[in-house]
Amino acid sequence: MNRFIAVVAASVLASGMAQAQVTEDDLKNDQSITTQIVTNGMGRHLQRYSPLDILNKDNVKNLVPAWAFSLGGEKQRGQETQPLVYDGVMYITGSYSRLYAIDLATGAELWQYDARLPEGILPCCDVVNRGAAIYGDKIYFGTLDARIVALDRKTGDVAWRKKIADYKAGYSYTAAPLIVNGLVITGNSGGEFGVVGEVQARDAETGDLVWTRPVIEGHMGTLNGEESTMTGTLNATWPGDMWKTGGGATWLGGSYDIDTDTLVFGAGNPAPWNSHLRNAGTPTEGNAGDNLYAASRIGIDPANGEIKWHYQTTPREGWDYDGVNEVVAYTDRDGNKRYATADRNGFFYVLNREDGAFVSATPFVKDITWASGIDDSGRPIYNEDNRPGNPADAADGKKGDVVFASPGFLGGKNWMPMAFSQKTGNFYVPSNEWGMDIWNEPISYKKGAAYLGAGFTIKPNYEDHIGSLKAIDPDTGEIKWEYKNNAPLWAGVMATAGGLVFTGNPEGEIIAFDDETGEVLWSFQTGSGIVGQPVTYELDGEQYVSLISGWGGAVPLWGGEVAKKVNYLNQGGMLWTFKLPKQLASN
Ligand code: CA
Repeated sequence: MNRFIAVVAASVLASGMAQAQVTEDDLKNDQSITTQIVTNGMGRHLQRYSPLDILNKDNVKNLVPAWAFSLGGEKQRGQETQPLVYDGVMYITGSYSRLYAIDLATGAELWQYDARLPEGILPCCDVVNRGAAIYGDKIYFGTLDARIVALDRKTGDVAWRKKIADYKAGYSYTAAPLIVNGLVITGNSGGEFGVVGEVQARDAETGDLVWTRPVIEGHMGTLNGEESTMTGTLNATWPGDMWKTGGGATWLGGSYDIDTDTLVFGAGNPAPWNSHLRNAGTPTEGNAGDNLYAASRIGIDPANGEIKWHYQTTPREGWDYDGVNEVVAYTDRDGNKRYATADRNGFFYVLNREDGAFVSATPFVKDITWASGIDDSGRPIYNEDNRPGNPADAADGKKGDVVFASPGFLGGKNWMPMAFSQKTGNFYVPSNEWGMDIWNEPISYKKGAAYLGAGFTIKPNYEDHIGSLKAIDPDTGEIKWEYKNNAPLWAGVMATAGGLVFTGNPEGEIIAFDDETGEVLWSFQTGSGIVGQPVTYELDGEQYVSLISGWGGAVPLWGGEVAKKVNYLNQGGMLWTFKLPKQLASN
């Protein structure tokens, strides 16, 4: 008892005044509070737009490094984190499930947490982590062994640690968790291992499970420890038992739309990749073989985990066009409340915020082969001869007809988040122009083994570029400008009220663009490839920009001919922070 009081007293003394607590209001108002960043997406609507305009088109040339922070060790690999900023501290996650607290003023390390990962973890696509979540006095992040960890944000001590799923079955976790009304909400990763995509909500204080919602039809959800409702209708869109290992990993996490009180999560590819095992017919025969809710966006009630709506971007998906890409809530020029999402399949979709209903879709990459367009109901108009062939039709039954499909399976856009500018009304989309040879093979499910039934080789579509940053008018789908990059783009994008668009490239440059023309106004070489997410904030009246550098992610591992083209790039692991010095702000 005495010892307990002594510990409490010591910690109160150590923190001086009452400890600052991240509240629901902090999360709700994150976009407008420019001195802190407490959400993934720089605001719950994932716009990655800052109202700061201290830094602008005229003075961005004066942006200089303030400090840099090395992640250290031999564990380099891809660094995809989005920094959080709160109460004088910057928090970042690193490869191999590490989390760092850094003094915002000096860049000095305050503490570091390294998850002890077991042998035999099965991350499909590099050992990345995309960021943490912060609430109350805790900071939360997911680990590669499919756990969620809550740490005391002042000390880094573990408050609780819970298992999301069994890593031995191929589950892992890399996305930033989401906080809504005192719940910590997570997805899961492992779509290439025949896992089942799920969303889970836990009490942020205790880590106790509140509800679960699998996203593949036939599976049961839970609420307060008891079965709640079945997802979809058993066997309505899946044949036989295929739904039991049906994929749909919710690996990029989700967002919360406060205006409609809806969680929005995306679901990845159905498993296995060989679509003929999931749908023997053609997609023009109604929705009997659509494999819901894989390759879909799903609206979920945060109170109980019930599905409110869904929109499937690629029914009977067969090219690894995961439907996970972020859904950005915005208001269009006519005042309509919309969602926008740029899918792996190459189309930029606008949906209605109230019910997820389809509004429009336009291509955001060139040379899409698998569909000629999206019809008025939101369903793809398939080019049937671009579906990889059925191996059962081959003479030896071992390899179906090879097709060249574009975009390649790494997508017209992959995980790297786009930005929406409230100033221009345009989206800034990091895309890639590439295709693939793809074919199907026989496969049967085996726990912890890759469950693809497909082979593939990614290829560039153009000699001079793969990466393509595009400014897109969401009302028309018109591409206002394009910046071509030699290597594939794999970093997040940010827009600001100062008229700037920031991103990084694998060649190592952090770049600031003019939001209206695409002109490069400033760049800085960071020494390793950039696959992280830029943020900006205000400290003592000066504007700062932070972005992590450290080459890796899926491209070097899965990029086929493109991986060979960029294998000269060096690994790293350095968080860079830039500032506009006060005396140069008016220049
Ligand atoms: Ca996938």
